[in-house]
Amino acid sequence: MNYKKVLGEVYQQVNKLEDKGTLASYIPELAHVDANNFGVHISTVTGFHYGLGSFQKKFSIQSVAKVFSLCLAYKMLGENIWTRLGVEPSGTGFNSLVQLEKDKGIPRNPFLNAGALVISDILISNLEHPKEELLSFIKSLSKNKDIQYSATIAASEKSVGYRNVALCNFIKSFGNIENEPSVVLDFYFDLCSLEVSCEQLSEMVLFLANNGKTLEDNNEILTKSQSKRINALLQTCGFYDESGEFAFKVGLPGKSGVGGGIIAIHPKQYAIAVWSPKLNEKGNSYRGMRFLEEFTTLSERSIF
Ligand code: GLU
Repeated sequence: MNYKKVLGEVYQQVNKLEDKGTLASYIPELAHVDANNFGVHISTVTGFHYGLGSFQKKFSIQSVAKVFSLCLAYKMLGENIWTRLGVEPSGTGFNSLVQLEKDKGIPRNPFLNAGALVISDILISNLEHPKEELLSFIKSLSKNKDIQYSATIAASEKSVGYRNVALCNFIKSFGNIENEPSVVLDFYFDLCSLEVSCEQLSEMVLFLANNGKTLEDNNEILTKSQSKRINALLQTCGFYDESGEFAFKVGLPGKSGVGGGIIAIHPKQYAIAVWSPKLNEKGNSYRGMRFLEEFTTLSERSIF
Protein backbone atom coordinates (compact mmCIF):
# COMPACT_ATOMS: atom_id res chain seq x y z
CA MET A 1 0.00 0.00 0.00
CA ASN A 2 1.38 3.38 -1.01
CA TYR A 3 0.17 5.30 2.04
CA LYS A 4 2.05 8.42 1.01
CA LYS A 5 0.16 8.66 -2.26
CA VAL A 6 -3.25 7.86 -0.79
CA LEU A 7 -2.82 10.24 2.14
CA GLY A 8 -1.66 13.01 -0.20
CA GLU A 9 -4.66 12.59 -2.49
CA VAL A 10 -7.18 12.49 0.34
CA TYR A 11 -5.56 15.44 2.12
CA GLN A 12 -5.83 17.60 -1.01
CA GLN A 13 -9.37 16.53 -1.67
CA VAL A 14 -10.62 17.24 1.87
CA ASN A 15 -8.63 20.47 2.10
CA LYS A 16 -10.63 21.81 -0.85
CA LEU A 17 -13.99 21.17 0.83
CA GLU A 18 -15.76 23.84 2.77
CA ASP A 19 -14.94 23.30 6.46
CA LYS A 20 -18.47 23.25 7.78
CA GLY A 21 -17.86 22.83 11.49
CA THR A 22 -17.55 25.34 14.33
CA LEU A 23 -14.86 25.72 16.98
CA ALA A 24 -15.62 24.35 20.44
CA SER A 25 -16.27 27.46 22.47
CA TYR A 26 -17.72 26.08 25.69
CA ILE A 27 -14.11 25.86 26.88
CA PRO A 28 -13.15 29.52 26.26
CA GLU A 29 -9.49 28.80 25.48
CA LEU A 30 -10.37 26.40 22.64
CA ALA A 31 -12.12 29.19 20.73
CA HIS A 32 -8.74 30.92 20.23
CA VAL A 33 -7.26 28.17 18.08
CA ASP A 34 -6.56 28.87 14.39
CA ALA A 35 -9.35 26.98 12.61
CA ASN A 36 -7.25 26.54 9.46
CA ASN A 37 -4.98 23.98 11.05
CA PHE A 38 -5.26 20.60 9.37
CA GLY A 39 -2.72 17.90 10.18
CA VAL A 40 -2.48 14.17 9.58
CA HIS A 41 0.11 11.60 10.61
CA ILE A 42 0.30 7.84 10.12
CA SER A 43 2.56 5.31 11.89
CA THR A 44 2.50 1.75 10.62
CA VAL A 45 3.52 -1.50 12.30
CA THR A 46 6.17 -1.89 9.59
CA GLY A 47 7.87 1.30 10.85
CA PHE A 48 6.64 3.73 8.19
CA HIS A 49 5.87 7.28 9.39
CA TYR A 50 4.40 10.05 7.30
CA GLY A 51 2.68 13.36 8.00
CA LEU A 52 0.97 16.20 6.13
CA GLY A 53 -0.08 19.75 7.01
CA SER A 54 0.18 20.85 10.65
CA PHE A 55 1.11 17.36 11.85
CA GLN A 56 3.90 18.61 14.14
CA LYS A 57 1.90 21.34 15.79
CA LYS A 58 0.65 20.60 19.29
CA PHE A 59 -3.03 20.97 20.09
CA SER A 60 -5.37 20.29 22.98
CA ILE A 61 -6.22 16.59 22.70
CA GLN A 62 -9.10 16.78 25.21
CA SER A 63 -10.99 13.47 25.24
CA VAL A 64 -8.39 11.63 23.19
CA ALA A 65 -6.39 11.66 26.44
CA LYS A 66 -9.04 9.38 27.99
CA VAL A 67 -7.47 6.53 25.99
CA PHE A 68 -4.19 6.95 27.90
CA SER A 69 -5.69 7.22 31.38
CA LEU A 70 -7.84 4.16 30.65
CA CYS A 71 -4.86 2.14 29.39
CA LEU A 72 -2.81 3.02 32.45
CA ALA A 73 -5.63 2.02 34.84
CA TYR A 74 -6.24 -1.20 32.86
CA LYS A 75 -2.52 -2.03 32.86
CA MET A 76 -2.31 -1.53 36.63
CA LEU A 77 -5.54 -3.14 37.79
CA GLY A 78 -6.63 -5.46 35.00
CA GLU A 79 -10.24 -6.61 34.76
CA ASN A 80 -11.04 -5.20 38.23
CA ILE A 81 -11.72 -1.80 36.70
CA TRP A 82 -14.90 -3.12 35.07
CA THR A 83 -16.62 -3.34 38.45
CA ARG A 84 -16.64 0.48 38.45
CA LEU A 85 -17.80 1.16 34.88
CA GLY A 86 -19.37 -0.54 31.89
CA VAL A 87 -18.43 -1.32 28.31
CA GLU A 88 -21.65 -0.37 26.51
CA PRO A 89 -22.15 2.47 24.04
CA SER A 90 -24.36 5.13 25.56
CA GLY A 91 -26.16 6.79 22.69
CA THR A 92 -25.99 10.01 24.69
CA GLY A 93 -23.74 13.07 24.57
CA PHE A 94 -20.29 13.03 26.14
CA ASN A 95 -21.34 14.97 29.23
CA SER A 96 -24.81 13.51 29.72
CA LEU A 97 -26.23 12.98 33.20
CA VAL A 98 -29.43 11.14 32.31
CA GLN A 99 -28.29 7.52 32.24
CA LEU A 100 -26.26 7.75 35.42
CA GLU A 101 -29.27 7.84 37.70
CA LYS A 102 -30.76 4.69 36.19
CA ASP A 103 -27.35 2.98 36.21
CA LYS A 104 -26.76 3.97 39.88
CA GLY A 105 -23.58 5.92 39.24
CA ILE A 106 -21.87 3.25 37.09
CA PRO A 107 -20.92 5.06 33.86
CA ARG A 108 -21.78 3.16 30.68
CA ASN A 109 -18.22 3.30 29.34
CA PRO A 110 -14.80 4.84 30.03
CA PHE A 111 -14.97 7.40 27.20
CA LEU A 112 -17.94 9.33 28.50
CA ASN A 113 -16.91 12.15 30.82
CA ALA A 114 -18.55 10.18 33.64
CA GLY A 115 -16.41 7.14 32.83
CA ALA A 116 -13.22 9.17 32.53
CA LEU A 117 -13.94 10.73 35.93
CA VAL A 118 -14.20 7.25 37.48
CA ILE A 119 -10.92 6.24 35.77
CA SER A 120 -9.34 9.44 37.14
CA ASP A 121 -10.54 8.48 40.62
CA ILE A 122 -9.05 4.98 40.21
CA LEU A 123 -5.67 6.44 39.20
CA ILE A 124 -5.67 8.91 42.09
CA SER A 125 -6.37 6.07 44.56
CA ASN A 126 -3.65 3.85 43.12
CA LEU A 127 -0.76 6.18 42.25
CA GLU A 128 1.46 8.06 44.64
CA HIS A 129 1.91 11.03 42.30
CA PRO A 130 -1.00 10.61 39.87
CA LYS A 131 -0.42 13.66 37.65
CA GLU A 132 3.31 13.06 37.25
CA GLU A 133 3.02 9.30 36.84
CA LEU A 134 0.31 9.61 34.18
CA LEU A 135 2.48 12.08 32.27
CA SER A 136 5.51 9.83 32.43
CA PHE A 137 3.41 6.88 31.18
CA ILE A 138 2.24 9.05 28.28
CA LYS A 139 5.75 10.25 27.51
CA SER A 140 7.01 6.66 27.52
CA LEU A 141 4.80 6.01 24.47
CA SER A 142 6.33 8.75 22.31
CA LYS A 143 9.81 9.18 20.85
CA ASN A 144 9.41 12.94 21.18
CA LYS A 145 8.98 13.40 24.94
CA ASP A 146 8.03 17.06 24.70
CA ILE A 147 4.50 16.61 26.06
CA GLN A 148 2.94 18.73 28.80
CA TYR A 149 -0.33 19.59 30.47
CA SER A 150 -1.54 23.10 29.62
CA ALA A 151 -2.23 25.02 32.82
CA THR A 152 -4.06 27.68 30.76
CA ILE A 153 -6.46 25.22 29.14
CA ALA A 154 -7.05 23.31 32.37
CA ALA A 155 -7.87 26.58 34.17
CA SER A 156 -10.12 27.67 31.31
CA GLU A 157 -12.09 24.43 31.47
CA LYS A 158 -12.23 24.54 35.26
CA SER A 159 -13.68 28.07 35.15
CA VAL A 160 -16.75 26.78 33.30
CA GLY A 161 -16.71 23.08 34.19
CA TYR A 162 -20.09 23.07 35.96
CA ARG A 163 -21.37 20.01 34.10
CA ASN A 164 -18.34 17.93 35.02
CA VAL A 165 -18.61 19.13 38.62
CA ALA A 166 -22.23 17.94 38.60
CA LEU A 167 -21.27 14.57 37.07
CA CYS A 168 -18.52 13.95 39.59
CA ASN A 169 -20.68 14.85 42.57
CA PHE A 170 -23.55 12.77 41.23
CA ILE A 171 -21.32 9.70 40.86
CA LYS A 172 -19.88 10.35 44.32
CA SER A 173 -23.43 10.31 45.75
CA PHE A 174 -23.71 6.69 44.52
CA GLY A 175 -20.36 5.81 46.15
CA ASN A 176 -18.49 5.29 42.87
CA ILE A 177 -15.95 8.09 43.48
CA GLU A 178 -13.57 7.44 46.39
CA ASN A 179 -11.65 10.72 46.48
CA GLU A 180 -12.72 14.32 46.99
CA PRO A 181 -14.59 15.46 43.84
CA SER A 182 -12.45 18.60 43.62
CA VAL A 183 -9.26 16.47 43.48
CA VAL A 184 -10.75 14.15 40.85
CA LEU A 185 -11.93 17.10 38.75
CA ASP A 186 -8.55 18.85 38.86
CA PHE A 187 -6.88 15.66 37.66
CA TYR A 188 -9.49 15.25 34.92
CA PHE A 189 -9.09 18.86 33.70
CA ASP A 190 -5.32 18.38 33.60
CA LEU A 191 -5.73 15.14 31.66
CA CYS A 192 -7.91 16.86 29.04
CA SER A 193 -5.47 19.77 28.75
CA LEU A 194 -2.61 17.66 27.36
CA GLU A 195 -1.07 19.15 24.24
CA VAL A 196 0.23 16.68 21.68
CA SER A 197 0.88 16.72 17.92
CA CYS A 198 -0.56 14.31 15.34
CA GLU A 199 2.93 12.91 14.86
CA GLN A 200 3.29 12.12 18.56
CA LEU A 201 -0.30 10.86 18.87
CA SER A 202 -0.10 8.31 16.08
CA GLU A 203 3.13 6.95 17.56
CA MET A 204 1.63 6.88 21.04
CA VAL A 205 -1.35 4.73 20.09
CA LEU A 206 0.55 2.47 17.70
CA PHE A 207 0.78 -0.20 20.42
CA LEU A 208 -2.97 -0.69 19.98
CA ALA A 209 -2.31 -1.72 16.38
CA ASN A 210 0.58 -3.91 17.51
CA ASN A 211 -1.13 -6.35 19.93
CA GLY A 212 -0.47 -4.08 22.91
CA LYS A 213 3.31 -3.80 22.41
CA THR A 214 5.41 -0.79 21.44
CA LEU A 215 7.02 -1.12 18.04
CA GLU A 216 10.31 0.43 19.11
CA ASP A 217 11.28 -1.91 21.94
CA ASN A 218 8.54 -4.56 22.06
CA ASN A 219 7.49 -3.30 25.47
CA GLU A 220 4.15 -4.74 26.57
CA ILE A 221 1.83 -1.84 27.43
CA LEU A 222 -1.26 -4.05 27.45
CA THR A 223 -1.72 -7.77 26.91
CA LYS A 224 -2.99 -8.88 23.50
CA SER A 225 -6.44 -9.49 24.96
CA GLN A 226 -6.54 -6.10 26.73
CA SER A 227 -5.44 -4.37 23.54
CA LYS A 228 -8.23 -6.11 21.62
CA ARG A 229 -10.73 -4.96 24.25
CA ILE A 230 -9.59 -1.34 24.12
CA ASN A 231 -9.99 -1.41 20.33
CA ALA A 232 -13.48 -2.86 20.75
CA LEU A 233 -14.39 -0.02 23.10
CA LEU A 234 -12.92 2.55 20.72
CA GLN A 235 -15.01 1.08 17.94
CA THR A 236 -18.27 1.10 19.88
CA CYS A 237 -17.88 4.10 22.20
CA GLY A 238 -15.14 6.40 20.84
CA PHE A 239 -17.38 9.03 19.27
CA TYR A 240 -20.14 9.51 21.82
CA ASP A 241 -23.50 9.33 20.09
CA GLU A 242 -21.79 9.40 16.71
CA SER A 243 -19.94 6.10 17.28
CA GLY A 244 -22.28 4.21 14.97
CA GLU A 245 -21.78 6.81 12.25
CA PHE A 246 -17.99 6.60 12.57
CA ALA A 247 -18.09 2.77 12.34
CA PHE A 248 -20.46 3.06 9.39
CA LYS A 249 -18.43 5.61 7.44
CA VAL A 250 -14.84 4.95 8.53
CA GLY A 251 -14.82 1.41 9.89
CA LEU A 252 -11.96 1.75 12.38
CA PRO A 253 -11.69 1.90 16.17
CA GLY A 254 -11.05 5.54 17.07
CA LYS A 255 -11.39 8.36 19.57
CA SER A 256 -12.22 12.01 19.11
CA GLY A 257 -11.78 15.08 21.29
CA VAL A 258 -13.39 18.53 21.25
CA GLY A 259 -10.00 20.05 20.41
CA GLY A 260 -10.63 18.62 16.90
CA GLY A 261 -8.26 15.66 17.17
CA ILE A 262 -9.09 12.08 16.19
CA ILE A 263 -7.01 8.93 16.50
CA ALA A 264 -7.91 5.76 14.62
CA ILE A 265 -6.40 2.29 14.73
CA HIS A 266 -6.22 -0.40 12.11
CA PRO A 267 -5.20 -3.43 14.20
CA LYS A 268 -2.04 -5.10 12.87
CA GLN A 269 -1.54 -2.29 10.33
CA TYR A 270 -1.40 1.32 11.46
CA ALA A 271 -2.40 4.12 13.79
CA ILE A 272 -3.40 7.48 12.33
CA ALA A 273 -4.05 10.88 13.92
CA VAL A 274 -5.91 13.77 12.31
CA TRP A 275 -6.45 17.29 13.63
CA SER A 276 -8.78 19.94 12.31
CA PRO A 277 -10.35 22.14 15.02
CA LYS A 278 -13.83 22.81 13.63
CA LEU A 279 -16.40 20.36 15.00
CA ASN A 280 -19.64 18.99 13.62
CA GLU A 281 -22.86 19.21 15.63
CA LYS A 282 -21.96 16.01 17.56
CA GLY A 283 -18.65 17.50 18.74
CA ASN A 284 -16.34 15.56 16.40
CA SER A 285 -13.88 17.16 13.96
CA TYR A 286 -15.71 17.84 10.69
CA ARG A 287 -12.70 17.50 8.40
CA GLY A 288 -11.18 14.77 10.56
CA MET A 289 -14.22 12.56 10.05
CA ARG A 290 -14.34 13.37 6.32
CA PHE A 291 -10.63 12.67 5.96
CA LEU A 292 -10.79 9.26 7.61
CA GLU A 293 -13.89 8.30 5.66
CA GLU A 294 -12.17 9.10 2.35
CA PHE A 295 -8.93 7.50 3.52
CA THR A 296 -10.43 4.11 4.37
CA THR A 297 -12.50 4.25 1.17
CA LEU A 298 -9.60 5.04 -1.14
CA SER A 299 -7.11 2.73 0.60
CA GLU A 300 -9.80 0.02 0.84
CA ARG A 301 -8.52 -0.68 4.33
CA SER A 302 -10.91 -0.79 7.23
CA ILE A 303 -11.57 -3.56 9.71
CA PHE A 304 -14.77 -4.59 7.91
N1 GLU B 1 -12.60 18.27 28.61
C1 GLU B 1 -13.75 18.08 27.79
C2 GLU B 1 -15.01 18.07 28.64
O1 GLU B 1 -15.02 17.46 29.66
C3 GLU B 1 -13.61 16.82 27.00
C4 GLU B 1 -14.71 16.61 26.01
C5 GLU B 1 -14.26 15.98 24.71
O2 GLU B 1 -13.16 16.19 24.23
O3 GLU B 1 -15.07 15.28 24.13
O4 GLU B 1 -15.98 18.68 28.34
